[in-house]
Amino acid sequence: MPLPFLARLLGGAPPPPPLPCPPHAPALVTAASWTMIAAALATWLALTFAVPPAPYGRHGRTNPANAARYGRGLPARAAWALQELPAFLIPLALAVHAAKVTGSGFTGLTAALGPQKTVLLGAFLAHYAHRALIFPLRIRGGARTPLGIAALAFLFCTLNGTLQGAALVWCGRESAVVPPALFKGGMGAMAAGGALNLAADGALRRLRSGAASSSSTAAGAYKLPAGPLFALVACPNYSGEALEWAGWAAASGFSLPATAFALYTLANLGPRARAHNAWYRARFPGGFEGRAGMVPWVY
Ligand code: NDP
Repeated sequence: MPLPFLARLLGGAPPPPPLPCPPHAPALVTAASWTMIAAALATWLALTFAVPPAPYGRHGRTNPANAARYGRGLPARAAWALQELPAFLIPLALAVHAAKVTGSGFTGLTAALGPQKTVLLGAFLAHYAHRALIFPLRIRGGARTPLGIAALAFLFCTLNGTLQGAALVWCGRESAVVPPALFKGGMGAMAAGGALNLAADGALRRLRSGAASSSSTAAGAYKLPAGPLFALVACPNYSGEALEWAGWAAASGFSLPATAFALYTLANLGPRARAHNAWYRARFPGGFEGRAGMVPWVY
């Protein structure tokens, strides 16, 4: 990595002028971000007070009538790969196109974006490269995902991939350079959240070993998770995911698009974590007493 890049990353020196931006992009990014914040509130209210958890995973198995309303089931691996792929491919395509526009490829792109946005974009791409291409291959015995649920996730990933990619690649600096301490703290939180998410997903995977891993629809192949990761919350993988995107939003200087995504993640995963927690308590009486769903002692 070139030294000036590192120096600018750590020192927060002013970046060069942004890439040319399509005329209506900033207004569209702002409108889409506010729409996502409104959708986050509606999602949280609906999932908390009105509708059952989305019927994939255990909540599809235990509520097959609700799952059937969303169409036939897709194999878990195919559903996860297809629904998450747009969040990786769209920002990648925007970045590749922008690199061509600069005339000097990746070097030109990083120079135009500045070091902070380069790191933010790289972190987003790395997360979704894993989620779309590696995570599905490692699923063991995952429940089938109804087509309608996969389609909704695909739509969300398409819109969010476009929003975050456009905000980072096209719209230049929405605000001034992020103060170095906030940027470093945010990226540190993102890395910690990512590590927690990976560790917790790995621990859940290990609960299904041997014969249980061979069937994609085996009902009842759930065990009570144990160990330090699950000491305080039922869903440390969701805690990690939420921390990841909160950290990413902080590192962006709480830019509107990144903050909207972090809020949506909280609104979506929070009620689901509580539903998982309730499910564990009903299925394994006494097993998860005293634990929260996603935020230790709080939620
Ligand atoms: P879950 O924790 O519900 O399930 C993860 C995997 O572990 C599934 O394959 C599940 O099988 C299996 N599993 C879960 N609990 C047990 C258990 N007690 N015993 C045996 N196996 C178990 O997570 P999700 O499937 O909802 O999410 C997967 C990943 O995607 C997570 O990292 C999550 O953070 C992320 N995600 C991110 C979202 C966002 O808004 N950014 C939205 C949704 C997910 P089965 O399918 O059979 O239940």
